[in-house]
Amino acid sequence: MADQDASPSPQRPSVGVHFKCCNIYSKIYINHAATAYTGHCPRCACPIEIPIVENGGSSSKFFSGS
Ligand SMILES: [Zn+2]
Repeated sequence: MADQDASPSPQRPSVGVHFKCCNIYSKIYINHAATAYTGHCPRCACPIEIPIVENGGSSSKFFSGS
């Protein structure tokens, strides 16, 4: 039992996002329904949502916010 996890939430998938509003890079995490990645700009708190497309969508792991 050497594995102490202080984090309240289990590991979740994340993607890197470039927030154009503030020209900064950050990560956002998948939502509970696993239908989209959602998060906020760390500087101005602008919300972002990236829908997850299962059929033939882009395999890119990098996105640009607005
Ligand atoms: Zn911003």
